Amino acid sequence: MSKVTMGGYTAEAETGFNHRTAMEEAARCLLCEDAPCSMGCPAGTNPGDFIRSIRFRNTKGAAEIIRENNVLGGSCARVCPYDKLCEEACSRCGIDRPIEIGKLQRYAIEQEKIFGMKTLKKPRSRKKGRVACVGAGPASLACAAELAKAGYEATIFEREAKAGGVLSYGITPARLPQKVVDWDIATVKGIGVKFEFGKEIGKKITAKDLLEKQGFDAVFVGAGLWKSGSASVPGEDLKNILSAVGFLKKARAEGGFKDMKGKKVVVIGGGDVAMDCATTAKLLGASDVHIWYRRTIEEAPANIDEIRYALSLGITITTNFAPKSFGGKTKVEFAEFQGRDGKSEAKVCCDYAVLAIGQQAEDITGVADAALSGKGCIAARGGGKTTVPGVFAAGDIVNGGKTVVEAVAAGKEAAETIIAYLDKKGVK
Ligand SMILES: Cc1cc2nc3c(=O)[nH]c(=O)nc-3n(C[C@H](O)[C@H](O)[C@H](O)COP(=O)(O)OP(=O)(O)OC[C@H]3O[C@@H](n4cnc5c(N)ncnc54)[C@H](O)[C@@H]3O)c2cc1C
Ligand code: SF4
Repeated sequence: MSKVTMGGYTAEAETGFNHRTAMEEAARCLLCEDAPCSMGCPAGTNPGDFIRSIRFRNTKGAAEIIRENNVLGGSCARVCPYDKLCEEACSRCGIDRPIEIGKLQRYAIEQEKIFGMKTLKKPRSRKKGRVACVGAGPASLACAAELAKAGYEATIFEREAKAGGVLSYGITPARLPQKVVDWDIATVKGIGVKFEFGKEIGKKITAKDLLEKQGFDAVFVGAGLWKSGSASVPGEDLKNILSAVGFLKKARAEGGFKDMKGKKVVVIGGGDVAMDCATTAKLLGASDVHIWYRRTIEEAPANIDEIRYALSLGITITTNFAPKSFGGKTKVEFAEFQGRDGKSEAKVCCDYAVLAIGQQAEDITGVADAALSGKGCIAARGGGKTTVPGVFAAGDIVNGGKTVVEAVAAGKEAAETIIAYLDKKGVK
């Protein structure tokens, strides 16, 4: 374990492989010809290929293979649900246990950073096309990187001061240290992608303006989901009832939640986001953190390791109870819950309540007047095409909220669609 300090708290981050343990793990790989592990990766990384390079002590080659497929290889090595993707598909599962692909990927990218390896290079020839990407989350970063590699000018417009989207403003640094995200972003910058921070598209400038007034040939929208889901219960608008992303974002900021010491915090939800919020509250100094989930622990979508980590910090998890109401004068003072059996009830005192019950799309019509699907997401088909010519979209804003690696895969696919569109338009 190593220490990670972020904003107002310090967390323990899991340590990765060293040279010896990486070599030992790589030596367990069967180097399968059909590499079933590669079928499990949405971004198209072939673990067999980069593990082979590690085995032959060609760490630069390994990092190149990872980066070529996934420019956010460092972040994905920390947060991908490997157990449900490549590691689940690994042939060694049938023998003893799967190869620790995630940790080997992490090792290769750590070596890339330590030795300052240049694994992705700027293309030699430039093309005329200019593409604007809205948002600097995984989807836009992957899309812009693919476009830059193909020689196009890609500019990312981000309303925040930092790139990364949920990587920088959501996921807890105990699982994803900021320096890992920053190194991935440095790789994206290194291949020529431009960034404009503090620029919110949809207020003064729209996608239409970018196309018609600012000379961009196409616009990609990777705006993610930044509106909190609602518990739809009385008292929800009291002070100190926070959205999961709002809570995590403030917790990471310098000076955020200075008053958390000794406080009682209620977290509602059963996914990884709920676990992140609860562990963050505890690490900020809350004395009592209690997770309430409406179904059983077996039904909880959170990763079992995250649940174990929360329990190891002394966090209580009560299952089969859903929120009924919140109460208090101006700030939340208590929360009431209704049991799944329809009879049981519970009431607890709290200083903060965090709603980790899913994210929704903000009103995106100001950005682009594209047709929407359910829950206000953008309806995109055929690799990111929206109903507005020249405007493409992918990531959470299209799929309704999935994973980082799926946002990367969708961003890459959208880049291919954009390149085909530019070719057709004769922008070469
Ligand atoms: C707390 C939390 C924990 C998670 N943990 C995991 C995990 O462990 N593993 C995993 O695989 N996935 C996890 N996810 C899901 C994952 O983070 C998302 O699927 C992924 O980040 C989606 O990428 P995206 O690029 O579509 O959107 P985002 O990451 O949301 O990025 C969108 C970006 O667009 C910007 N933006 C929005 N609107 C505008 C605008 N109008 N103008 C300019 N900029 C704008 C936002 O500021 C943001 O930077 C988690 C999600 C959350 C919320
Ligand atoms: S499936 Fe497992 S053993 Fe086979 S190449 Fe992939 S990581 Fe190695």
